Amino acid sequence: MTDLSEYDWDLLVIGAGLAGGLTALLAAREGARVVLVDKKGFPRDKVCGGCLNSAALQVFSRVGLLDSLATLGGAWIDRYELFAGGRPLSIPLSGGLSLSRSRLDAWLVEQGQRAGVTFLDQVQATVVESENVESPRREVELVPLGHAPRRVTARIVVVADGLGHSSLSRQTKFEDQVHRQSLVGLAARARITSVEASPERGTIAMAVGQGGYVGLARDETGDVHLAAAVDPRVLRQSGGPGECVRTLLRQAKHPLSLEGMQLVWLGTGPLTHHLQPAAGHRLFVVGDAVQYVEPFTGEGMAWALRSAEQLAPQVVSGLDRWTPELAHGWSRLQQTRRGGWCRWLTGALRRRWLVQPVVAGLRECSPLARWMAARIDPPSGFSRNRLEPVPGPQSDQPEVATQISVSEGAL
Ligand SMILES: Cc1cc2nc3c(=O)[nH]c(=O)nc-3n(C[C@H](O)[C@H](O)[C@H](O)COP(=O)(O)OP(=O)(O)OC[C@H]3O[C@@H](n4cnc5c(N)ncnc54)[C@H](O)[C@@H]3O)c2cc1C
Repeated sequence: MTDLSEYDWDLLVIGAGLAGGLTALLAAREGARVVLVDKKGFPRDKVCGGCLNSAALQVFSRVGLLDSLATLGGAWIDRYELFAGGRPLSIPLSGGLSLSRSRLDAWLVEQGQRAGVTFLDQVQATVVESENVESPRREVELVPLGHAPRRVTARIVVVADGLGHSSLSRQTKFEDQVHRQSLVGLAARARITSVEASPERGTIAMAVGQGGYVGLARDETGDVHLAAAVDPRVLRQSGGPGECVRTLLRQAKHPLSLEGMQLVWLGTGPLTHHLQPAAGHRLFVVGDAVQYVEPFTGEGMAWALRSAEQLAPQVVSGLDRWTPELAHGWSRLQQTRRGGWCRWLTGALRRRWLVQPVVAGLRECSPLARWMAARIDPPSGFSRNRLEPVPGPQSDQPEVATQISVSEGAL
């Protein structure tokens, strides 16, 4: 492993998801000496539907990575199917891309490495010391898998470690407000060989049941990603994630049964939370670690990427000259509750008695359905031709996939 202590790091980024990966890359492009660490071995999967919406594609376009992203073989998504018990509602989308997170995040890390980022996986990080506003550095404890802990310093630390923000566990100044009715996340990947079965390549299907919903989309390999947000009480009562998701699909009258499939599930803790403040002395928090609502409208990755794009200039400015105003300014910006639309929609979804009539109404009123789709996925100038290369040969994975082997939390 790299001898971390021999370097004088400008920036240490904790978490190599999209928020951390992009912040590290953009800072390295500006000449900063950056180390990016992740506790998981890469490539790794995670709880996510893997659908990049047009806002996320716009970020990749702005930072000059869109053409490279298009080479990953992602599936162009331009249709949304909502199953809530009756006939499904089908709405055209302006266009996005479905990719496995293992592929997407590893690719972004690789782009960072090309820009000069040093990347270390299987390294768990914890911000250790209490805040000393006179200090020109922050100290972080790193525990590489199978090795003794070591302490490293950097002029700025970015915490991008997702929902659990575990690297801040020893910091008392950060207070996390977790919504008391928050759902938890579940995900698995399944090999469905019939290409006509829902979801077809190019469609995101959403199945809404009692106490949760499941998103389904095919990724670059043709596998179906199942990503669900469920009430933890419903999860407990169903006796496990597989049965819970099967029940939601049945209630929504989605045709996929999953019977007989041995899927491996990943799980998260509560999804809806808001951390305050979102910065400290020479430290910024970004992405899901700051706040998250719920995945229904598929905006999470776009939020993470956009906040990394906003944060990078603050980091560069802080490396030039640190002022407390940088931390205050970032915290103020993150106080804005994000996802007004997502918040409203997911609130409505909890009232299942409301969902069926609304879906039926939208089916009869296509202008309203299209208006709703435009709110979820605003029109963009991207085209399938640019982003979806001709599909290559299918991967030779087993009929019933059991791809994911690690557990992410609450299961
Ligand atoms: C069920 C579900 C479905 C979703 N579907 C979609 C979708 O289809 N489209 C969409 O846009 N968004 C979706 N999202 C949201 C999306 O997954 C997140 O918003 C996005 O991944 C946030 O990125 P991030 O970089 O902030 O965090 P993450 O992607 O969670 O990355 C955090 C990284 O930090 C690492 N880490 C954690 N702790 C430590 C530590 N102490 N030391 C070192 N490393 C650490 C983790 O291993 C991880 O790699 C979904 C979310 C859920 C729960």
